[in-house]
Amino acid sequence: MLICPKCGGALSREGKSFLCPQRHCFDIAKSGYVNLLTSDRMNSALPGDNKLMVQSRKKFLDKDYYKPLADALCSTVLRYAQSGCTVLDAGCGEGYYTEKIAAALNSLNGMNAEILGLDISKSAADYAARRTKSAQFAVASVFHIPVGTESCHIVTSLFAPWCGEEILRVLKKDGILIMAIPSERHLWQLKCAVYDEPYPNEVKDYKLDGFEFLGAEKVSGEIFLPCNEDIAALFSMTPYFYKTGAEGHRRLENLDSLTTEIGFEVLTYRKV
Ligand SMILES: [Zn+2]
Repeated sequence: MLICPKCGGALSREGKSFLCPQRHCFDIAKSGYVNLLTSDRMNSALPGDNKLMVQSRKKFLDKDYYKPLADALCSTVLRYAQSGCTVLDAGCGEGYYTEKIAAALNSLNGMNAEILGLDISKSAADYAARRTKSAQFAVASVFHIPVGTESCHIVTSLFAPWCGEEILRVLKKDGILIMAIPSERHLWQLKCAVYDEPYPNEVKDYKLDGFEFLGAEKVSGEIFLPCNEDIAALFSMTPYFYKTGAEGHRRLENLDSLTTEIGFEVLTYRKV
């Protein structure tokens, strides 16, 4: 699936590197990921989530608080998967969902799916590659995806930056896009604990240019966070983290436990 970010030629693995026909060479890190982010595509020296952010998200997700979402994503992927299919997780973070999807695909005999996770954060790709050997991980931007045109059967975009044009380019004809969005009441009690006047999340129109909407599956539940560490980790994963003032952060620091609703929608689209 991978192509050279310098010339666009197909990359093939040779020992501990990926090489293109023009012999551009990209070394595979010890953990197994390959860095395909060229310096002209970097907007900073260390783009994407830093190590601390990645670690805190990994800690939270590894406790399976969002397992209902992971399960719904896996069953959606399996519905559209076919033998030898190629699956790209565009903006995979530390690979929690990529690993679950890879495990679900590998549990089926003869599926032989090729799974690739991309993230612009080197720390994220490093953690993801340590997490599972059932997928290949690469450091790359979702705005310049280093995979060939019309090479993916399924693309997942899970809370990642959105670049519809690139996803349309890499999807095969009739390829499937799977996204997850928070529903109105997602983390409602967490917001009530922090804000005097919390607002429900805004759920946007499902329409996406270039795609046919196939359906939405609602996932909801309640999670109990037994310690402040988990509450803080969850809050740091949300967009509210950056919008909250000192008073909100202080309220959060004083919480020892929290029960909160979670809610997502898994949206499925077909490229048209
Ligand atoms: Zn090349």
